[in-house]
Amino acid sequence: MVSYGAGTNSTALLVEMVRRGEPVDAILFADTGGERPGTYAYAEMFSAWLVARGYPAIIKIKKGGIPETLEQNCLRNATLPSLAFGRKACSHKYKIEPQDKWANNWPPARAAWTAGQKVVKLIGYDIDEPHRAAIPESEKFVYRYPLLEWGWGRDECVRAIAAAGLPQPGKSSCFFCPSMTKGEILQLRKEHPDLLIRALNIESTAKEAGNLQTVNGLGRRLNWGEFIELVDEAEANDPTAFFLRQQDFPNPPQCGACYDGASDDDEQEAA
Ligand code: SF4
Repeated sequence: MVSYGAGTNSTALLVEMVRRGEPVDAILFADTGGERPGTYAYAEMFSAWLVARGYPAIIKIKKGGIPETLEQNCLRNATLPSLAFGRKACSHKYKIEPQDKWANNWPPARAAWTAGQKVVKLIGYDIDEPHRAAIPESEKFVYRYPLLEWGWGRDECVRAIAAAGLPQPGKSSCFFCPSMTKGEILQLRKEHPDLLIRALNIESTAKEAGNLQTVNGLGRRLNWGEFIELVDEAEANDPTAFFLRQQDFPNPPQCGACYDGASDDDEQEAA
């Protein structure tokens, strides 16, 4: 089964699996409810592309339990995605666990486990980040990293997608992901101002509830609202000042937890 994140790596992984004629039994896209519209559209288009080539359609799965998106969960609890606090619970709860639960009810997986075999999970880590490709084998799953096997980095992935005649997927992550860079936040502001307002609402709701005592905001040390205010102010006065003052803001926490829909480890973690 393939963990599909609707980003460049996992799209290239599948494109090359198709080109090589390697079989794939299931393709799972764990939806936090917070992807950008273009990501959902891309996954739908790519699913049709796969089906037309005899491969399974992409299955969109969601977290079980209370039917709410990660955004709704943050607002209900007046908190931020856990990555802002240096943890990975958001990706575990909304991406890893739904995939594992889905597999628990997938007849081929059950048959494999009954026969003493393991399900192979394909994950799109590439040669630029080999340290991530070390998920420990579990009782049920063993992990395979085709891009590493092929010696592919980001450039090869982009070329493979283009060679297949497909458009490149855009940024794939929650629109309020703490790992977003300042450039990505500004891109969100430009392309999806409505989503930026929703992201800022998550941040301000947590702040008003007094739940930002250990971090400044969505970007951990970076408060997105303050950053946007500064940009607005600078743009109104002197655009150059904005570029000079970007250095005042620290880099975001590295996602690590979510990488094109997968996790850099499969360990379960408390919220
Ligand atoms: S994309 Fe970011 S906010 Fe969304 S689940 Fe992954 S780490 Fe959490």
